Amino acid sequence: MSKEKGKLIVVSGFSGVGKGTVIGKVMEARPEYGFSVSCTTRDPREGEIHGVHYFFITKDEFLAGIRDGRFLEHAQYSDNYYGTPREYVESLRDEGINVVLDIEYQGAFQVKQACPEAILIFLIPPSAETLVKRLVNRGTEDHEKIGKRLARAVEEADQAPGYDCILVNDKLEDAVTDFLAVVDEPALGVDHYEKNLAIVPEIKKDLQAILEKDAF
Ligand code: 5GP
Repeated sequence: MSKEKGKLIVVSGFSGVGKGTVIGKVMEARPEYGFSVSCTTRDPREGEIHGVHYFFITKDEFLAGIRDGRFLEHAQYSDNYYGTPREYVESLRDEGINVVLDIEYQGAFQVKQACPEAILIFLIPPSAETLVKRLVNRGTEDHEKIGKRLARAVEEADQAPGYDCILVNDKLEDAVTDFLAVVDEPALGVDHYEKNLAIVPEIKKDLQAILEKDAF
């Protein structure tokens, strides 16, 4: 008898929402899941390890990968290419292993088209102010970079309706619990979608106001 295929879990979210932290906790709670390490043409940041955080490859290698159909999806983001290695994801899913992808919306929608059974989760902050506070308190980016991230979040807000589920990352533990519940029972995603979709335009409006007033 053939094994049931592993689930494909796609996570996107506002820049600075804590996507990496939520995914980290999900992987701790479910170590049997696979995390898809993407390929990128961007330079490694301090502390990033080839094969762990990304496969750092050249633009030529990336373009050859596109040509050879080696990516399940790929997209350009901030002048760099990012893509999900197809073979890794498919081999794990064939083994019955659930796979988590941390990708932006263009890639998420490509995945949904290729694999309609994929579960698309969009993470949002509880409010614009929380997002701003997190980015500022983190202290890793200067004012200009924070502005760019906030502007990107405004843009990303328009994509939230295309996801299967929208989750609020307010208390980390709750976000992880909701996340795992949706993976176990994807139909639950609809409740979170309906409940949280209305918050998105509010956050967008508030972010725009914060940006206009340079109040960050
Ligand atoms: P960063 O450069 O900050 O690590 O990632 C920038 C953005 O690229 C994030 O939104 C991240 O989710 C997205 N990303 C990372 N890997 C992939 C990928 O393989 N495909 C796509 N489409 N986006 C990705």
